[in-house]
Amino acid sequence: QHGPADSLTGPQPIPGVKHIIAVASGKGGVGKSTTSVNLALGLQSLGLKVGILDVDIYGPSIPTLLGVTEKPTQDENKNIIPIIKHGLVSMSLGYLMKQNTATIWRGPMVMGAVKQMIADTKWDVDGELDVLVLDLPPGTGDVQLTLAQNVAVNGAVVVSTPQDIALIDARKGLDMFQKTNVPVFGLVENMSYFLCPSCGERADIFGHGGARDTAQELGMDFLGAIPLHMDIRSTSDQGTPIVTHQPDSPHTAAYIAIARQVA
Ligand code: ADP
Repeated sequence: QHGPADSLTGPQPIPGVKHIIAVASGKGGVGKSTTSVNLALGLQSLGLKVGILDVDIYGPSIPTLLGVTEKPTQDENKNIIPIIKHGLVSMSLGYLMKQNTATIWRGPMVMGAVKQMIADTKWDVDGELDVLVLDLPPGTGDVQLTLAQNVAVNGAVVVSTPQDIALIDARKGLDMFQKTNVPVFGLVENMSYFLCPSCGERADIFGHGGARDTAQELGMDFLGAIPLHMDIRSTSDQGTPIVTHQPDSPHTAAYIAIARQVA
């Protein structure tokens, strides 16, 4: 069997998956993976069957974010059986490699692993997926471009922090999707403002309204703002994503509001 990235016939669907949403960012460390996981769980809370594929070669963080320590197995046809955690079907480069080896992988090895994860994973192990969330590597390199050209992505979400926006990295991501004809759902502003965990006071550390303005300037929709908050970081580090573990949190509501716009 051959996966979508093997062919040169343009964007292909992924077997066992109805819709594909890519989550991108102009640079690393802006909270793209945190957003991917909580967006995926937000979509799940809307009643959808959801999977997540982590192809972030520079630092696959989905295993940590989901609290997954086990490795995927293979069935008799050599299909990879993805891990199911928090109800989410997941595959990650991090499940396939030893810790911290990704950065020394050469390009072809990375593409080989990505193609294999897409083509050989039994995505419908728990029933057909309504949505597969693709957690892309940061920036606009080969992996992102190859995926955008070969996988039929229904829409992309661009994650940025307010100061990142000033550096117009988000614009490069938007350019890449436009060039490859991938529709862009819009922009999520992460670490939008600081919420003090003890007093609840809000501080607009990076200014306010930058993302909304930039989205408008770029002709993108603004999907929402997520604050910089201790609970988001601590739940991420513990592998207990906020959307499933603090369902009543205002942050959970914010992620679900974003999910509604891309569902
Ligand atoms: P990226 O995927 O863009 O590299 P991550 O999702 O791994 O970024 O996030 C980088 C770090 O920032 C992690 O430690 C994560 O827990 C933290 N983080 C992300 N978003 C938030 C937020 N809204 N509030 C607090 N911490 C956050």
